[in-house]
Amino acid sequence: MAKRRLRIVERRKNIPVLGVCEFCNAQFPIHQPWKGGQSEAQAQIQQQFNAHKCKLTDSSQNALRIVREATESK
Ligand SMILES: [Zn+2]
Repeated sequence: MAKRRLRIVERRKNIPVLGVCEFCNAQFPIHQPWKGGQSEAQAQIQQQFNAHKCKLTDSSQNALRIVREATESK
């Protein structure tokens, strides 16, 4: 599996509030960034990032969904 990387894309007052996976663009928002401060917010984003699974198959998934919708609507 290719390497994935976490990127912090939004900060408020130096506290990270939104991270994304550079590999699959999954987003990891912090809902209460003021609660634990900077290190806690960073840890929460890192945790979500570690737990997620990259979805690389956008086009094939879309194709699958279209097929499914087409068959379900019959
Ligand atoms: Zn990812």
